[in-house]
Amino acid sequence: MNRLIIASNRLPIKINKSEKGMEVIPTAGGLATGLKSYHKGNNSVWIGWPGIMPESKKEEATVTSLLEKEQCLPVFLSEDLIENYYDGYSNATLWPLFHYFTEFTEFRDIYWQAYKTVNELFAEAIINNAGEGDTVWVHDYQLLLLPNILREKRPDLNIGFFLHIPFPSYEIIRVLPWREEIISGLLGADLIGFHTYDYARHFISSVKRLLGYDVDFNQIKLENRQVFIDVFPMGIDYDKFEKLALEVQSKPIQERSKEHQDIDRFLLSMPDRKLILSIDRLDYTKGIPERLKAFRYFLQKYPDYREKVSLIMLTVPSRTDVEQYQNLKNEVDVLVGNINGEFGSLNWNPVIYFYRSLPFENLIELYSSADIALLTPLRDGMNLVAKEYIATKVNHKGVLILSEMAGASKELGEALSVNPNNIEATADAIFKALTMSDDASEKAIKAMQKRIKRYDIHKWASEFVQALKKTIEKQSDFHAKKISAKLKSKIADEFSKAKSKTLFLDYDGTLQRFFGNPQAAVPDADLYDLLDRVAEAKNTELVLISGRDKETFDRWFGERNYNLIAEHGAWKRERGTEWKERKPSHNEWKEIILPVLESYVDRTPGSLIEEKTYSLVWHYRKADIELGALRALELVHDVSNLIINQDLEILEGSKVIEVKVSGINKGTAATEFLYENSTDFVMAIGDDWTDEFLFKELPETTYTIKVGTGNSVAKYYVDNYKDVRMFLENLITTK
Ligand code: UDP
Repeated sequence: MNRLIIASNRLPIKINKSEKGMEVIPTAGGLATGLKSYHKGNNSVWIGWPGIMPESKKEEATVTSLLEKEQCLPVFLSEDLIENYYDGYSNATLWPLFHYFTEFTEFRDIYWQAYKTVNELFAEAIINNAGEGDTVWVHDYQLLLLPNILREKRPDLNIGFFLHIPFPSYEIIRVLPWREEIISGLLGADLIGFHTYDYARHFISSVKRLLGYDVDFNQIKLENRQVFIDVFPMGIDYDKFEKLALEVQSKPIQERSKEHQDIDRFLLSMPDRKLILSIDRLDYTKGIPERLKAFRYFLQKYPDYREKVSLIMLTVPSRTDVEQYQNLKNEVDVLVGNINGEFGSLNWNPVIYFYRSLPFENLIELYSSADIALLTPLRDGMNLVAKEYIATKVNHKGVLILSEMAGASKELGEALSVNPNNIEATADAIFKALTMSDDASEKAIKAMQKRIKRYDIHKWASEFVQALKKTIEKQSDFHAKKISAKLKSKIADEFSKAKSKTLFLDYDGTLQRFFGNPQAAVPDADLYDLLDRVAEAKNTELVLISGRDKETFDRWFGERNYNLIAEHGAWKRERGTEWKERKPSHNEWKEIILPVLESYVDRTPGSLIEEKTYSLVWHYRKADIELGALRALELVHDVSNLIINQDLEILEGSKVIEVKVSGINKGTAATEFLYENSTDFVMAIGDDWTDEFLFKELPETTYTIKVGTGNSVAKYYVDNYKDVRMFLENLITTK
């Protein structure tokens, strides 16, 4: 892999401005730690906002050169952009929506415009610094549009994206006025990573429903590329937490920090006193009021525990300028006051509340001392605090109560899992944690430690980078078959020199786009004009070969001088002659199959049945995309059982299932046509499974071309029906 460019809203360093001048302070965040080996070692560059607004050009140059030494590159944002892109679209639109807080979500055009502008600014900075074929790894919800801006401007780049917050279900994302732009923005990447399978599946479902792309397991099939989706649950720097916890524990009491000594004193004053810990940013997604209510309920329901249990609640100030965060702060202040007022005594505070952030060492002390961690977010992409708590339990004593709405709950299955909205169940979980045997809690902690030690932050980063590398290899295999400009001119040259030539062209999806209703796909004037000229080309047989019924083909092309093969070969009309049927009909089977298909139409809104001479077709293009795919599987299963020994077969096309008399397919029909009209240049173009018969059965020398991506025996592929039209135009105009 070439050079790695990392793009995230914030850089892994802070710039502090003091009287002494500017200084660079590295931040010890998980992302920076995980990417350290890639960032420092590999001549990589990290692009992001440095968190400072330079007051002059000179100051800007100083910041830039300071950052350069750390292999960082700034994207400077004005106050106005920060307000609308960061506070606005990122944190007042996407953040609440992606965490299912639709009531807090603001849709404002001014935010959207700023968001687009900033994503463009990031793209510009990357493009100015990226060499041919470099790899860009984009992070998080502030830069959702960036992958596609890069893809359009620099198709040579390899692009990975990781989302650090949840991706909500389709029902949520659909309310966003810019939903298609956001999803298309992400699809510019080669690989998109999520913390959990749920987020990945929500994303895939939204792609299918909003943009209509086909998805094959974890691959999204765009017109000319595939995008891979995968799950990489972000880990922590496990060894660092473990090491510090061991140090903290082994320190003699008198050498411990003041805070740690305070905790010790507090616990020593009553040896059977238990500490419950919660740590989070003060954010409405974290479920802090619900947690306090659950604790209050616990004290009511289990009064024996009064004076014996305290909840240490560390809430870190966050987005303090935003109204919802201010309201939340007031609500939490009042609740803490109420609980302490109602239950507290001279010797005991039920809730010990800190509204500030703590130095790293104090965090470790808190983690180490806490008997229970109570982490109950209403929604959380991952929740690293949960993993950090587990990592510091070097003596294996402790219990984790974790919300099932946190991404981390997928990996920490041994935790006591709670629905944070269920106050009573959360209170019961506290009781359960307090009464859990040492043996059971030790077992649970050890199992979780083993897992998160193995898949730590380093592993997370390297797995993503490796997966991106593999994805890119797959993309290039895939591109190998794409028809090149050179090959196009070679084919055109051979075509112009050949003495006799035959072109087999499928219709739907090949010469014309798909319509919800198949009867709407009437040929347009341009298409008629093009096909007329192909048919008139010297020594050329144009054969339109389709699964369409004979009546439609006759209505559309009956007057034209083309060869027509309809219903996969059941009907044929050589130009200047009458329609000929290929086989006498045997159609009693339709009476059995039709009611089955009708039951599928009843149960699959939007689907419909088409009857042809030798076949029955179930179309589901207009049905709900997921229901349609599910029903198609069921239908194939049901019908397969019915057609045993019936001389029938099932063809699965693009959003169609066709049950037909066997032995009739495009391959046999085309071979028969060639047999009767010998030719030295043959070409076949088609887009779905029914065309695979063509590609398979025509002579080896045939130029077989598939429209769109996907597995095929065709030698080459083009992107879409427009490319086919252009290709044909080029073929007949090359001299
Ligand atoms: N943290 C911190 N200082 C504090 C409290 C917490 O640095 O005073 C850290 C904590 O160690 C954790 C992070 O903040 O790594 C919070 O991450 P999490 O995924 O739990 O929540 P987020 O804030 O990203 O939503």
